[in-house]
Amino acid sequence: MLENIRIVLVNTSHPGNIGATARAMKNMGLTKLVLVDPKDHPSFEAYSRASGADDVLGDATVVSTLSEALTGCSWVMGTSARERTVEWPIMQPRECAEKSVEQSRSGKVAIVFGRERTGLTNEELELCHALVCIPTNPEYSSLNVAAAVQVLCYELRIASLGELIEPSPIEKSEADSPATADQVEGMYDHLSQMLEDIGFFGTNNPEIVMRRLKGLFSRTHITKREVNILRGIFSASQGRKSARKE
Ligand code: SAH
Repeated sequence: MLENIRIVLVNTSHPGNIGATARAMKNMGLTKLVLVDPKDHPSFEAYSRASGADDVLGDATVVSTLSEALTGCSWVMGTSARERTVEWPIMQPRECAEKSVEQSRSGKVAIVFGRERTGLTNEELELCHALVCIPTNPEYSSLNVAAAVQVLCYELRIASLGELIEPSPIEKSEADSPATADQVEGMYDHLSQMLEDIGFFGTNNPEIVMRRLKGLFSRTHITKREVNILRGIFSASQGRKSARKE
């Protein structure tokens, strides 16, 4: 999957940052580097900072515009040290990495890094689907560009390792697959009815209680098996023996 993810550096001024980026990428198992109009490339300085990641650096593609760098990509993330005034969906690095690894299973992905001084322009950000902001000290938020690449490549590696972990045989069974939306809806109706039957709502507003409980369940990835267990508990609470067969 990581082979489908490219790191794009826009208009980098310092060749040392290009070399350090290649090193950061290779450490984390990424290989595709794209340089948009770099100021000084190839250079001795970059090879010296790449410290053995010469293959990543040597294989880097050089293009003149960001659009060219994004050719063939179906998911593009921009990076920024600050939240922009323009409304972009903002993601945390972990969420960005999980989404990017997921997208890389079926298409090409790009993570775009800006100029050392000025970052990415709004026009460049418009080519991105979402923005990722590494949560740094708000009073000193701007990372060196290669350090920002390192943080995101680390998260990409962790996300990709998570994908590689083989599910255990029990998780592979149909009952342990995620419950469908209608199964979850059915469980909510049952829960609401059960709470009504046992007189739980009392003076509480059932709608508000249910909204909170739905919020709780929506934070879990509930499986079909778990829905069945819960519905069994609801039926037992209702004292409806026949319902236990559901
Ligand atoms: N003043 C610029 C700083 C550029 S730093 C700005 O606000 O964007 C150079 C590049 O490093 C940025 O374009 C971005 O790609 C990356 N970067 C630096 N700090 C970052 C952070 N906290 N989160 C995400 N990317 C960051």
